[in-house]
Amino acid sequence: MNNFNVFYGMQFLMKYDKFNSIIERSSEIGSGNGFMEHVDLVSLQQKVTSLRAEGKYKETIEGCQELLALGTEANDPKSMLVAHLNKMSSYYCIGDIEEAFKSLSEYKEVCSQYGDDTDYLNLYNCLCLLHEFNKDYVRAKATLDKSIELGKRLKKYNIISNGYSNYSHLYMAEGNYADALYMAKEGLLNANLHEPPNEMMKLRVKLNLAKAHIGLGHFAESKILIDEMMSNSVLESFVREKANLYDLQGFWHTKQGQYREAFDWYTRAKELVESYDDVYLLKAIQEERCKLCELMNDVQLGYSVQKEYIALLNVIMKRELALVALKLDIKHSIADIEKNANTDYLTGLFNRKYMEETTDQWLKAARENEETIICIVFDIDNFKTINDTYGHLFGDEAIQQVGRAISRIFSRDDLVGRYGGDEFVIVLRNVSLEDGILRAEQIKESFYQYPIIKDDLSVSITASIGVADNTDTGIETFKDLFHLADVRLYMAKQNGKNQIEV
Ligand code: GH3
Ligand code: MG
Repeated sequence: MNNFNVFYGMQFLMKYDKFNSIIERSSEIGSGNGFMEHVDLVSLQQKVTSLRAEGKYKETIEGCQELLALGTEANDPKSMLVAHLNKMSSYYCIGDIEEAFKSLSEYKEVCSQYGDDTDYLNLYNCLCLLHEFNKDYVRAKATLDKSIELGKRLKKYNIISNGYSNYSHLYMAEGNYADALYMAKEGLLNANLHEPPNEMMKLRVKLNLAKAHIGLGHFAESKILIDEMMSNSVLESFVREKANLYDLQGFWHTKQGQYREAFDWYTRAKELVESYDDVYLLKAIQEERCKLCELMNDVQLGYSVQKEYIALLNVIMKRELALVALKLDIKHSIADIEKNANTDYLTGLFNRKYMEETTDQWLKAARENEETIICIVFDIDNFKTINDTYGHLFGDEAIQQVGRAISRIFSRDDLVGRYGGDEFVIVLRNVSLEDGILRAEQIKESFYQYPIIKDDLSVSITASIGVADNTDTGIETFKDLFHLADVRLYMAKQNGKNQIEV
C-alpha cells in the first residue's frame, strides 16, 4: 500500500462532504436572456448541484460541461460559476487535484468579472481545501486571511469563526499547538458573537481548542472543555463531531499515559465512524489502537486489532483502485464530449464554432508574429441537382466523401472544417499565398480523382473555390477572413463554377 496515496486520500475523503456546508448558496440563480433559456439553465444548475451532493461525480462533471456550454452561450455568469464550482468539488472528491485547480481558476476568472461576496467566499473556502490537500500551508493560510477579512467586512461571525477554526486546524497539522490555540480562541470568540447562537459552530471550534490544549499539555483546561462538550445535547444529532470528540478523549488519555481508557475511547470512536463509513478517519483510529496495544503489552488484543486494520487497508486499496478507474472513465468521457462539441456530426471535420474560435486565436498570434494565415473556402457546384437526382441520402454520402477526400490533402496542423451545407472551409497557418493556391488546386484535382461512389453509382462533382489571406488590412477575425474568401468563391460561381478565385 502506498502511504502517500493513503495520506492524501485520507484528507480528501475526510473532507468530502464538507462541500455541502462550505459552498454557500447564492441568493439569486441564473439570469439567462430568454425565459425558456432561464428555466433550462436554472434546472440544470439544480441538477448538477444535487448530483454532486449524491456523490455522482462522473454525472456531475458531464452535467457541468453541458451547463458551461449553455451558460456561456446565454452569457449567464451564474451558470458558469455553478458549473465550475461543482466540477471543482467533484474532481476534488475523486482525488484529481490538478483538474480541481483548473476548474477553480476558471471559477476565479468568472468571479473576478461577475462575482459577488458569496462567490468569493466559495472561492476562498475551496482554494483553502486544495492548498491544504497539497500540504501548502502558507497558501492555505493566505486564503484563510482573505475569507476572515471578507467575514469582518460583512460582519458575519460564522465566516470569521470558521476561518479561525480552519486556521487552528492547519497549525495543528503542522504540529504548532501554540498558534493553533490562539486561532481556536479567536474562533470561539467570534462563534460566541454569532446571532442567533449556534451551538454546532461553537462545538466545532471547541474541538480544535481542546486538541490544541492537549498538544500543549494543558490537561486541566482541555478536560473542562471535553466535559462541557460531552454533556452538550447537540452532540446527539451530529455523529461526526461526536466521533471526533471520542477520538479526542482517546488523545487526552494517551497523553496522560492512561492507555486502557484511551483504548476504550478509541474503540467507541471507531464504532461511530464505522456507522458513517469514513475509512480514512477509521484508519487513523485503528493505528492509535494498534499503538496502544503495544504500549499495554496486550498481544492477544493487538492481534485482533491488527486483523481489523489489515481488512480496512484492503477496503481502502479497493476504493482507491475504483477511484483511479473512475478518474480515467471521466477523462475519456470529457474528451468525447469536447470532441463532439467541436466536430461536425456528418463529416467528423471541425464545425464552424471551433473553426471560428481557433482561427481567431491564430489571427491574434499572427498579428504579433507577422505570420500569414490562409483561408480556403469551397462550395460544391449544383449540389441541389445532386440531391434532386440521386436523393438526399446520396447527397449526405457525397458530403462525407468530400470530407474524407480533403482530409487526405491536409495535415493535423491544418484546420479543416465544414462551414455548413455543401460549403467547406480550410485555414492554414505559416503558409504563403502561393502554397495556399496550390492546396486549392489539389482540392480541385481530388474531385476528378475521387468521384462520389455509392452502391452502383459513381458521380463526378466539382466545386468553386475562393482563397484569401490575412495580409489585407482590417482582417482581424475569422469572420473577416472568411468573408473575403467567400466573396471570391461567389466570383468563381459567377464566372462559371469549377474554378479557383484568388
Ligand atoms: P451552387 O453551384 O450555386 O452552389 O448551387 P447548389 O445547388 O450547390 O446550391 P447551394 O450551394 O446554394 O445549396 C446547397 C444545397 O445543399 C442546399 C441544401 O438543400 C443542400 N444541403 C444542405 N445541407 C445538406 C446536407 O447535410 N445533406 C444534403 N444531402 N443536402 C444538404
Ligand atoms: Mg453549392
